[in-house]
Amino acid sequence: MNAPPKPDHARCALFLDFDGVLVDIAPTPDAVRVAPGLPGLLQRLADRLQGRLTVVSGRPVSQIDGFLDRMAPYAIGLHGAEGRGPDGALRRLEAAPGLAAARAILRQASTDHPGLLLEDKGLALALHWRGAPELGDIALGLAEQAQGAAGAALALQPGKMVVELKPADVSKGSALAALMAKPPFAGALPVMLGDDLTDETAFRAAAQAGGSGILVGPERETAAEYHLPDVKAVHAWLQALADG
Ligand SMILES: [Mg+2]
Repeated sequence: MNAPPKPDHARCALFLDFDGVLVDIAPTPDAVRVAPGLPGLLQRLADRLQGRLTVVSGRPVSQIDGFLDRMAPYAIGLHGAEGRGPDGALRRLEAAPGLAAARAILRQASTDHPGLLLEDKGLALALHWRGAPELGDIALGLAEQAQGAAGAALALQPGKMVVELKPADVSKGSALAALMAKPPFAGALPVMLGDDLTDETAFRAAAQAGGSGILVGPERETAAEYHLPDVKAVHAWLQALADG
């Protein structure tokens, strides 16, 4: 896969995943380290792109805004279940029916298996096994059991050493497409940077809107057109776009 070209400022809209793209993945979700210059870099980029910059994450919007000093004009959280624009108002879906039943099962699981970490995101639940890689199969089985108890309103979303239960009718791709339909995004060419399986829907949505995806990290089968090797390369590419 090739390195991405430098997009045209006048037409580009940037969509940036957070973990594994803007910051290196850490042993636990709250242990990530934000590079000191990153919020300022995003602010400069947003100015150059006339506000067409969105962080698209599986995390809650409140966490993204906390890590980035709210420098991204737009933020999509919980894979699309939450969204915020420049006015600061947070739009959230209702909690899926069955979420409480799934939460009870995964809480018990994290008590039974101390190597598993349950991250309760409110509208979504993530079960991590980064601290105990041997528990991956057990975690996936427990997540399937929790999804079965919750029903069709919650869907499984596998990731890197994590499996999530998220509202079934949201995805990063549909969130990207919804933003692209409105100003200031309408008519622009979306470029989506992501590293994980959950980003594939957004790579496809970006391509469908005439833009492209950039896979970050090890190469694999992907809907992205371009590739950057790591977070450091992402920062350099963003810096060149902000300066150029
Ligand atoms: Mg990621």
